[in-house]
Amino acid sequence: MFENSAFFELPKINSFAALPPEFYSLVPTTPLRDPVLVHADEMVGALVGLRPEHFKSKAFVDIVSGSAPLPGGVTMAAVYSGHQFGVWAGQLGDGRAHLLGEIAGPNGHWELQLKGAGPTPYSRRGDGRAVLRSSIREYLASHAMSGLGIPTTQALAIVSAKDRVIRETSETAAIVARMAPSFVRFGSFEHWAARNAPAELTVLADYVIDRFYPECMLSEPGVPDRPGQRYVRLLRAVVSRTALLMAQWQLVGFCHGVMNTDNMSILGLTLDYGPFGFMDAFDAKHICNHTDVQGRYAWYAQPKVAHWNLYQLANSLHVIAPDAEALRDALNTFEPTFFDAMQTQMSRKLGLGAWREGDEALVDDLWSLMQANHADFTLTFRQLAYAPGSSEPSPHQDLNRIKRDLAGTTGATVQPFVDLFLDREAAVAWLGRYWNRVESAPIVSPETRRESMLAVNPLYVLRNYLAQQAIEAAQEGDFDEVAALLKVLKSPFTHHAGMDAYAAQPPAWATKIEVSCSS
Ligand code: AMP
Ligand code: MG
Repeated sequence: MFENSAFFELPKINSFAALPPEFYSLVPTTPLRDPVLVHADEMVGALVGLRPEHFKSKAFVDIVSGSAPLPGGVTMAAVYSGHQFGVWAGQLGDGRAHLLGEIAGPNGHWELQLKGAGPTPYSRRGDGRAVLRSSIREYLASHAMSGLGIPTTQALAIVSAKDRVIRETSETAAIVARMAPSFVRFGSFEHWAARNAPAELTVLADYVIDRFYPECMLSEPGVPDRPGQRYVRLLRAVVSRTALLMAQWQLVGFCHGVMNTDNMSILGLTLDYGPFGFMDAFDAKHICNHTDVQGRYAWYAQPKVAHWNLYQLANSLHVIAPDAEALRDALNTFEPTFFDAMQTQMSRKLGLGAWREGDEALVDDLWSLMQANHADFTLTFRQLAYAPGSSEPSPHQDLNRIKRDLAGTTGATVQPFVDLFLDREAAVAWLGRYWNRVESAPIVSPETRRESMLAVNPLYVLRNYLAQQAIEAAQEGDFDEVAALLKVLKSPFTHHAGMDAYAAQPPAWATKIEVSCSS
């Protein structure tokens, strides 16, 4: 029975609730009316001892729809502040997110949070709700990122309800139940720094170190720590995780859309999916958020913005870590860490083996070629694995090869590499240079090389139009499209027979989709 299941039996640690009361407000959720479970995820459930049969129980739906508290948990909203679009915004906080508690699961500790479960003291003028449209986007994106192996908050369940919510129009209300080891943000630190509150900053930083970065407690052998030295080490660790996350985002064409400091996870997770987007045609200046007129959060700008956000975190930590020089040194590790990760991952994507002199020009020229030809981001890398080598020079041959490799598919929806470029000659010329490089030092067999490329270049990403189709069906009460899409997104490197449509380039109407902050 559910009541006796691990979910209820597992210890609730509630470590964030053990912090002093000024870090949060205890506030109950406001239940949704007639909630319907749209989807719940088996793999995420397993992290906290849930099994698929539990998802059907009333007790589970009651918890994830905000109708019942988590037994043993503490329901609360956390306070934080932040910079929004580069401007100090002051106090923000969980305006529509309730933390239900922290579960010591069979696979680590997980905080369970409901997004859209009603107002909190931090709602300002908001209603504390989320709409089905944006909730499905967050649910799908969390699973897409997870499937791609990119650090993210995990989506446990999504429920929709009878309640209506007013945005530009009247929309269906929904809740996403999501999990992470912690939802602490850069903005959680900025909040106390802005109040010049070293005592609270110390409590928060020590909490984060103790729970998630215990290695920061260790000083260099034989060298006594200077005051605040462990917070410098914390910054260094967060810089490293954030730089790695940026490289991963960049190399799947992911744009977050709202990289405000309150949406930056202290654990280096992708957090708060709003007007995000995976690029279709490559454009370095791609802006996924219709509201971001200046393009502050365009694709090419993301690493720079992450660095700027880390600078705000460093500024906050400076209140308790007086050694500004050491903080600056920690910030300066961002660039080399990011570029190193880009190189390593790019050489895997292209099947180059170890990075060599001259590879940078080859890669830069590929980006330029993609940009000039509006080549599809995902398919360019994926189809390069199938592109013909110098032993089979005809660019036309690779279509047959794709047909052969994707047995059971027509190949019609998945174009060969050179067909992704309007200027086919330029693509063939680049391909020639690429093969020269690859074959100048063959380290593995062509088959092994191809397999390794296919293992890091996804065939399926959450294209906006695919999300839109799933949303429109769900708004009519049909959740099959959400389930079908999840299937390919959860294992995006594997070809799924009969699901080629999910790998296809967007139809013409897709360019008209506008994604804004409205959610
Ligand atoms: P976001 O840009 O979605 O990260 O949100 C920025 C801030 O606005 C956060 O403090 C959110 O909790 C808050 N917020 C966004 N939408 C709502 C809403 N519908 N009701 C209350 N607060 C909201
Ligand atoms: Mg947010």
